[in-house]
Amino acid sequence: MNKPLILIVEDDPPIRNLISVALDIHGYRHLTAADAAGAILEASSHNPDILLLDLGLPDLDGVEVIRKIRSWSNMPIIVISARSDDRDKIEALDAGADDYLTKPFSVDELLARLRVTLRRLNQAQQENPETAVFVNGPLKIDYAAGCACMNGEELHLTPIEYKLLCVLARNCGKVLTHKYITRQVWGTAWENNVASLRVFMATLRKKLESSGNQVEIQTHVGIGYRMTKGADM
Ligand code: CA
Repeated sequence: MNKPLILIVEDDPPIRNLISVALDIHGYRHLTAADAAGAILEASSHNPDILLLDLGLPDLDGVEVIRKIRSWSNMPIIVISARSDDRDKIEALDAGADDYLTKPFSVDELLARLRVTLRRLNQAQQENPETAVFVNGPLKIDYAAGCACMNGEELHLTPIEYKLLCVLARNCGKVLTHKYITRQVWGTAWENNVASLRVFMATLRKKLESSGNQVEIQTHVGIGYRMTKGADM
């Protein structure tokens, strides 16, 4: 894994700075948000490796942020909250948080919990190596061979279309932002890439549909695209 990217969601500037500095020193990249709206925006546009989330946010309760993010992402969420009641912890964990740290917290403990979470992420990646074959209903992608089939028939894709399909498949079920996709496909996220993305997405869809498509690529207007899982249909 490259330098992990951590999203810090905290409305209290001193605590936000404390965490930012600690992450800087220990070689993590980080983004920050001071409210729920910022948290959801940053999480959806940057797909961070881990989300550190305060619950007492000015615009929306952190538990609601967990629920919203869980509707489209499995990113690990570690809650850092002053709420120390068992009930609060249970509510956050049931909503989909992976871990819970009570304020005041020790930075060393936070770093240790980040390491545990990253270890788990790395294990999960090793168990699902990218060289494997991806299957979603009638769609099959053989990453090692670099080809895709629909109902057993090879799809004739251009290199960009193939790359695009792989990015959607690797994140199957999740909404991916235009920025995220263009960065994965072209390595940059210029405005003209977003325009190209629309064109390539249209041709890719046509090829998927012409072979009796049960794999849908949904458009999320103003956000991006999502490949549905066969079971969602
Ligand atoms: Ca707070």
